[in-house]
Amino acid sequence: MLDFDLAQKRLSEAAPAPTGSETCPLDQAAGRVLAQAVTALLDSPPAHNSAMDGYAIRAADYAAGKPLPIQQRCYAGDVPAPLVPGQATRLFTGSLLPEGADTIVIQENCREADGQVEILQAPQKGQHVRWQGEDIARGTEILAAGTLLDAARVALLASQGMPEVAVLPRLKVGILTTGDELVAPGQPRAAQQIYNSNGPMLAALVRGLQAEPARVLHAADEPQALRAAFESLLADCDLVLSVGGVSVGERDLVKPTLEALGGELALWKVRMKPGKPVALAHIGGKPVVCLPGNPVSAYAVFALLVSPLVRRMQGRSELFPPVRKAVLRTETVRQDSREEFLRVQCRAAGETTELIAYRHQGSGAIGSLSWAHGLARIPADTPVADGTPVDYYDLAHWLS
Ligand code: AMP
Ligand code: MG
Repeated sequence: MLDFDLAQKRLSEAAPAPTGSETCPLDQAAGRVLAQAVTALLDSPPAHNSAMDGYAIRAADYAAGKPLPIQQRCYAGDVPAPLVPGQATRLFTGSLLPEGADTIVIQENCREADGQVEILQAPQKGQHVRWQGEDIARGTEILAAGTLLDAARVALLASQGMPEVAVLPRLKVGILTTGDELVAPGQPRAAQQIYNSNGPMLAALVRGLQAEPARVLHAADEPQALRAAFESLLADCDLVLSVGGVSVGERDLVKPTLEALGGELALWKVRMKPGKPVALAHIGGKPVVCLPGNPVSAYAVFALLVSPLVRRMQGRSELFPPVRKAVLRTETVRQDSREEFLRVQCRAAGETTELIAYRHQGSGAIGSLSWAHGLARIPADTPVADGTPVDYYDLAHWLS
């Protein structure tokens, strides 16, 4: 049985980052990965402008009780004339700062009458001006290659006037569920059957990582059906995930099927709970990862062991989201011979964060997944009592 950390590292290195890039319109770029670093073409802001509604003046022209004539009104989108010494320009948020002005006085501190403005409070020179380039200087790198684009990064690219961006190809993932007892949601279910939750779950997990669940197949526990399904997915996808049938039961036929397809088993069984039956093979140069059938185990294995590999194959530079410490709340002392990952909710408690474990931690308890915010790690062979700080894996990060 392989150690959890070693398994995580090995899986993350099981395939290379993609090569080649494609051009993507900016309005479809969220969720794509940058193929190249992006350098600022413009200063940001590109010109000095006002942060407030008010009046632009030269700070040196201020004198208490002495109104300044209003030279011009300048709205956002207008081009103001240079400021005449001793005068003021009426302007608004986003208006360009007239040449010669160095200070904005907010309208709440002014009284305007008869074409003049009286400033009611001594201004600080430079106040409320957004200076050209104060946020971003032209020529600096604003986004690194391998960055996953999100709304904030799309906004940044848009602010630079970029209508499209070079991105890496989207990773295609094939999903195979196995088991004679399974029936698809929406189909009639006999008493001995259960609904297939892993298929929709894995497709959603893959989509959550911004990869494409290109195909989802189901195969009965039968060698020919399994073989045909693997072959078909390998032909169309970059990475194949199978779920179930990988343990040591009589009907666990996934491992022999991979071997029959020429797959070299690079890893089998990981010392973790939930989890354990996890396999990695390469067939025709493509990685196949086999996950345990229990939905809770499949979910945890996907988050902790598969997601770094998916990120690597997407070309993302950050493979491992942060793990932080938080205090475990537990009624019993926890200990197991495997690395254990408890489904927990995270709660602020004064200066610290507490982790509260779901009451039923069995690997069949699918309700624990929608309840949990994250996974708390209990080290193997180590008794962990109430109040102990443990590693916390926030699923919001590990599944994105
Ligand atoms: P297996 O590893 O195939 O023995 O499956 C372990 C457990 O997970 C069994 O109780 C299966 O019925 C269940 N299981 C396997 N695949 C799925 C699935 N796609 N959806 C829901 N439960 C599953
Ligand atoms: Mg099965």
